[in-house]
Amino acid sequence: MSDVLVVAEGRNGELREVSFELLTAGRELADAAGGELHVAVITGPVAEYAAELNREGVDAIHTVDAGEEFNHDVYVQAIEGLYDAVEPGYVLAPNSVNGLDYAPAVATALDLAIVTDVVDLELGDALVATREMYGGKVETTVETPTDRTLVTIRGGEWPPAEGEGSATIEAADVEIDEDAISSTVTGYEEVAGGDVDIADADVLVSVGRGIEEEDNLELIFELAEAMDATVSSSRPIVDNGWLPPNRQVGQSGKVVTPEVYIAIGISGAVQHVAGMKGAENIVAINTDPNAPIMDIADYAIHDDLFDVVPALTAKFAD
Ligand SMILES: Cc1cc2nc3c(=O)[nH]c(=O)nc-3n(C[C@H](O)[C@H](O)[C@H](O)COP(=O)(O)OP(=O)(O)OC[C@H]3O[C@@H](n4cnc5c(N)ncnc54)[C@H](O)[C@@H]3O)c2cc1C
Repeated sequence: MSDVLVVAEGRNGELREVSFELLTAGRELADAAGGELHVAVITGPVAEYAAELNREGVDAIHTVDAGEEFNHDVYVQAIEGLYDAVEPGYVLAPNSVNGLDYAPAVATALDLAIVTDVVDLELGDALVATREMYGGKVETTVETPTDRTLVTIRGGEWPPAEGEGSATIEAADVEIDEDAISSTVTGYEEVAGGDVDIADADVLVSVGRGIEEEDNLELIFELAEAMDATVSSSRPIVDNGWLPPNRQVGQSGKVVTPEVYIAIGISGAVQHVAGMKGAENIVAINTDPNAPIMDIADYAIHDDLFDVVPALTAKFAD
């Protein structure tokens, strides 16, 4: 029997979606291990965060009120302290910039096995973690025979936990040694175009190289406006400087899980699909019936985008 400790993540006073996905992954693992699901809430408005994270399946939430924003040294100390107090078997963290900052240090300090960027977990005689390699072309499995393991999970791979929970919420009895804090976060700045977070959008109208010219993007923005959707893109559009980097979907862009993802003139390279395969409904508009995106699309429109997009815009604007 092993408990699971999940480390939630917030930024600028808001919990990130991966925190709720971690609850689902954590609950599944705790069920398989016959243990409880504990959640660590470190820094930020911890009481608000804890209330939001109190979802079905969570047994206990531990808050560490130690500053507004992420700090490496605070996280490492807090997780170490919580590990000693809760004595979980497994620790789950997001495979985010922050998660990858503190997870190796925590694993080293606590002498835990560590597996990063995990997309699936199964517990039998050993913990079997699935990872993708070579841009998603190959899947590998990593077995850790011990329950003293820290796993970072990729966002968008587990559905977010829902339903109201009845977890105990308490301030953790964890001391943070201020003298051991060697760095300070002085501020947080979104990259250019930071007004939009494509990861939050319910409907994404995503454009690829098939659009041919920057001026043609107007067609895409018109469709997005008519559908009350957000515009995202494949990488070449960002590389061309036609849209800012925060609009890019994919392995080196953002992972998105909208209700509807409309891929317009996008071929569906593995690096792109890695960022959008979790969308509930995928619509592809492409002149090539053999484009890989057509295989994963729920609705594949084999036609010219310059005909289909204006027709869709007119329909939605009605
Ligand atoms: C390390 C690495 C990381 C990467 N990370 C990312 C990433 O995060 N995100 C990402 O997107 N890519 C990423 N890439 C690039 C990726 O490999 C592809 O090159 C890229 O996704 C292709 O973008 P695209 O589909 O827009 O263009 P293309 O592959 O050129 O596809 C254009 C599509 O438009 C269709 N088309 C053309 N004209 C029309 C028309 N008139 N009407 C309808 N359809 C039309 C074509 O049939 C074609 O399928 C990465 C690559 C590497 C090596």
